[in-house]
Amino acid sequence: MGSEVIDLGDATLLPGLIDTHTHLLTRLDTAKEIDPEKGIRILQTETSRRVLLGAAMAREMMDAGYTSVRDLGNSGRNGDVALRDAIEEGLIPGPRMQVSTRALSPIGGQFRHLPAISQPLVDEEYAVITGVEEARKAVRQAIYDGADLIKVIVNKGSLVLSSDEMKVIVEEAHRAKRKVAAHATHGPALRIATGAGVDSIEHGYIVPDDVWKEMAQKKIYLVPTDATLEGYKAFLVTPRHLPLDEEMTIVRELSTFNQGNTARLTIARKLGVPIAAGSDRYFRSERQTRGQASLDVLLSYVEAGMTPLEAIRTTTICAADLMGWAQKVGSLAPGKFADIIAVKGDPMKDITTLARISFVMKGGSIVRNSKQTK
Ligand SMILES: [Zn+2]
Repeated sequence: MGSEVIDLGDATLLPGLIDTHTHLLTRLDTAKEIDPEKGIRILQTETSRRVLLGAAMAREMMDAGYTSVRDLGNSGRNGDVALRDAIEEGLIPGPRMQVSTRALSPIGGQFRHLPAISQPLVDEEYAVITGVEEARKAVRQAIYDGADLIKVIVNKGSLVLSSDEMKVIVEEAHRAKRKVAAHATHGPALRIATGAGVDSIEHGYIVPDDVWKEMAQKKIYLVPTDATLEGYKAFLVTPRHLPLDEEMTIVRELSTFNQGNTARLTIARKLGVPIAAGSDRYFRSERQTRGQASLDVLLSYVEAGMTPLEAIRTTTICAADLMGWAQKVGSLAPGKFADIIAVKGDPMKDITTLARISFVMKGGSIVRNSKQTK
């Protein structure tokens, strides 16, 4: 009764994709801004401007098939909340969002040493933690500001949040039914974060075996924000136009990094650590939209030995589970939101076909329906 039939030909249908690590309100020009003063322009950009950038990135994500994202900070003061709410109210198109507001972090946020006079600007971007009570207060502030989850930078350089601080963060967040996403790359941060019972480890480049086991046992997700070698090169090499010998050095370092990432993914999978996909795209991609560029992370998982189906699960059903949205999204079933995409070809055989999305539906509304492939 009143239902419409949509003929998509021989396309493959999948649940809408989910990216569990986005920064929609940040877009750096890699060449100028990553190095040496990482993201310094962030501090000079008003939140209002960044919300408009976020609206554009949200649209680009959705056009590429992403119907849900978990946005993990670098959004100015509550810019992510404004974006999420505008999408929810139907004012602008975009994926369903969970947002973290400002990330909790050690002194200085994720910036290199800045003059003391910049502190108020750092406070717009990060909630700096220097003790247990401050940690508790920062979680409550984030919840008050509208956070759906808490993002914590556990380590930055040699600064690492303490076990006590992390425990209070998790306790306070869980009490309010908010999950905790922990940025932890290597060293003691991993053990501190998993010990405190966070819900996901973001990045996790160098993880000791006992921590992998603890993650598997506690069902703590790994969100590997990896890229293919081509992806890394596009990010770190291409925009710089370096002298050839310098470029070769960077490419060599990147391939070592890439091999390390591949190896750790194999261990994590063998030990049964749950994995959810996260692109961590926060920079401008040449010739690709944010959504198209975000698919690179899935290619990297397949390069690292996952089957295409396994990689698709990290960006659908597993991602939904990490977000606590397994009842709503991540699979095609009665009672869930009709977030559906159609792809030309068979992504189970060839993951790169995900780049040829011809149809996107969010919550039963058609967002995109193009007959021809790109
Ligand atoms: Zn990130």
